[in-house]
Amino acid sequence: MDLLNTLVDKGLRRQPPTREEALAVLGASDAETLDVVAAAGRVRNHWFGRRVKLNYLVNLKSGLCPEDCSYCSQRLGSSTGILKYSWLKPEEAAAVACAGVAGGAKRVCLVASGRGPTDRDVERVSKTIAAIKEQNEGVEVCACLGLLSEGQAGKLREAGADAYNHNLNTSEATYGDICTTHDFGDRVSTVQQARAAGLSACSGLIAGMGESDEDLVDVVFALRELDPDSVPVNFLIPFEGTPLGSEWNLTPQRCLRILAMTRFVFPDVEVRLAGGRELHLRSLQPLALHLANSIFLGDYLTSEGQAGRADLDMIADAGFTVEGSDEVTLPPHRVSPHQVSPPRQDGDTQVAAGTAEGDAPAAAPGATGVARPDLVAVRRRGAGTDLAPNA
Ligand code: SF4
Repeated sequence: MDLLNTLVDKGLRRQPPTREEALAVLGASDAETLDVVAAAGRVRNHWFGRRVKLNYLVNLKSGLCPEDCSYCSQRLGSSTGILKYSWLKPEEAAAVACAGVAGGAKRVCLVASGRGPTDRDVERVSKTIAAIKEQNEGVEVCACLGLLSEGQAGKLREAGADAYNHNLNTSEATYGDICTTHDFGDRVSTVQQARAAGLSACSGLIAGMGESDEDLVDVVFALRELDPDSVPVNFLIPFEGTPLGSEWNLTPQRCLRILAMTRFVFPDVEVRLAGGRELHLRSLQPLALHLANSIFLGDYLTSEGQAGRADLDMIADAGFTVEGSDEVTLPPHRVSPHQVSPPRQDGDTQVAAGTAEGDAPAAAPGATGVARPDLVAVRRRGAGTDLAPNA
């Protein structure tokens, strides 16, 4: 396909596709998908070689959230039987984080449910960051605590946090369909605050919530406007007991096309294969390593992933290597994560707010995924339990 040659050329020059080109990647047929993966894989390989960065999630506070994000098992009114607990003590969180680092994780992601932290919560997390860094030299720590109030990003940075995660999740036009207690602008503002405070910005999306191809392109281009250093691509985990519990819209091939499109839009940025990979990519997971240069190791916040050992075997079997703590993730021109630069200006990208075709999300083309609730396992080990973490 001429399109793929064009996209590879652009990717090697750090140029994103146009919206039309991004839509064409999503619209490729299943028969064309392996060619799409090979093309996007050339871009991934150019900027990141064969390295895969491992990240480890620690859920500091689980469940009981007052927000109503439809995809989330921790939301207000969720009847999913998840673990529910209040803040882990710094030493408890550090013990879980150490297991992840011992398993090969280079970054620890400290996550807490809730709308956003109080100043006391920020102090608590600061102590946790100190405890983790004291025991794990060189580890990167990312905080993910929800919407930030003024000054909190700076406090986290002073406490030693390297990064802050806050996902945009879906397009601005459909944000109101998945959450009513905060809006898209609130999320954008938090990512901007984190970046302005010198934290490496991490922000991504969730696919499979009934969105259209246009929505996916909208959210990926909106993310590019924020110039994040890392972009997690989640595939909806349809938890029973949440409003999206019956949304099984993805096929393995569609997941690969979504990852390829994200890679073309973010040629030189860490693209992370995140939640839901086991459920939706299934036996095609290793192909996704040709697109993403980063994955979560082991379990997620409230659900279990495949065994950490299986993640390491998958990486080795596919011919990739785990990125060491002494290796730099991003290419040299992006290497200083705390250097605050002006947001990216691209002549050929634009965020097309308000271009959704209707109020309700359209059915995704090719959405023929089969429901596999048997693959959704609520997390019963690691943080908040007496059982060893999966790392
Ligand atoms: S995504 Fe975060 S803010 Fe939304 S319901 Fe879940 S824990 Fe709460």
